[in-house]
Amino acid sequence: RPLTRPDLAALPPYVPGRSPADLARELGIPAAIKLASNEVPYGPLPGVTEAISAAMAEVNRYPDAAVIALRDALAERYEVAPDRIVTGCGSVGLLDLLCKSTCQPGDEIVYSWRSFEAYPLVVLGAGARSVQVPNKSGHGHDLDAMLAAITPATRLVLVCNPNNPTGTALHRAELTRFLDAVSDDVLVVLDEAYREFITDEEVPDGLVEFADRPNVVVLRTMSKAWGLAGLRCGWLVASPEVANTLRTVLTPFATNMLAQAAAIAALHAADEMRRRVDLVLAERDRLLPQLRALVPGTPASQANFFWLPVADPVGFGKQCESHGVIVRPFPEGVRVTIGTAEENDAFLAAARG
Ligand code: PMP
Repeated sequence: RPLTRPDLAALPPYVPGRSPADLARELGIPAAIKLASNEVPYGPLPGVTEAISAAMAEVNRYPDAAVIALRDALAERYEVAPDRIVTGCGSVGLLDLLCKSTCQPGDEIVYSWRSFEAYPLVVLGAGARSVQVPNKSGHGHDLDAMLAAITPATRLVLVCNPNNPTGTALHRAELTRFLDAVSDDVLVVLDEAYREFITDEEVPDGLVEFADRPNVVVLRTMSKAWGLAGLRCGWLVASPEVANTLRTVLTPFATNMLAQAAAIAALHAADEMRRRVDLVLAERDRLLPQLRALVPGTPASQANFFWLPVADPVGFGKQCESHGVIVRPFPEGVRVTIGTAEENDAFLAAARG
């Protein structure tokens, strides 16, 4: 017998983006610009570095396994009971946890495709089966088709809002209709990794509007707007019962001590987070018409990235790299993260060739 599960070989391995240091060396330039992973282009929020330094003094100890201080800080900011909050090693760690806590081998997980690249990996890791429902031609989720794809074997549905990599977002009315129609023995995850970048008021806030439904889990992250991608801290809100079950299978100490300290400090700097997000949003408004002139059909984005439906994504990616800008090609298009004004101008120049 093979030493590892033979079905794991079915998936292409996760290929991380090109390293900026590597590209800079190859091109002989001081630094490459990375617009490939939907990070914010700014350093840590005020107070974060100090909080990490202070936490370092105890780094020989295990972190608080119950994550009490951070859960309390999140509970206060978002007005949810702390017993409904679970934190993890990135929201991707929580997606992994959700798959293995809901599915037994052979069970099905439904999600729109194309969406976040980690979905098929965490599904397979749990021994579950991916049921991928193609995006609509406007690049949004096809909720009717997703509903039709749910079978008695479906245990989990992943709804990415706004969707990575297309940046498109579902509106309140359609999402409400969908959630009303999903059977209450199927858990629905609203993955709101990019919530802070939403400006369209028709797009619902899952935490405020849907999290009280017992079969809904709202997933958030400190990686994007809060600028802590490198520290790996995600969190979710579920019913107390679901949250309790998730905690029993959670990898012990999944949220490390520095991540806990940094996340609390970041939450205290919410005003500065908002100011930085507003800079990204101003760039989003500035870029859209220019991108549409370059790539017709570019959808408006509710996130900190754009989806460019170019004919030759790999060629487009290579062209950008030859100008020192790293973007993320997919088979159907290219995703580019919104950076600083300077970085975005460099990207525009690279895209024009
Ligand atoms: N969900 C979505 C939709 C994402 O795009 C990402 C990151 N690219 C994540 C979850 C995971 O983020 P993290 O693990 O850093 O919290």
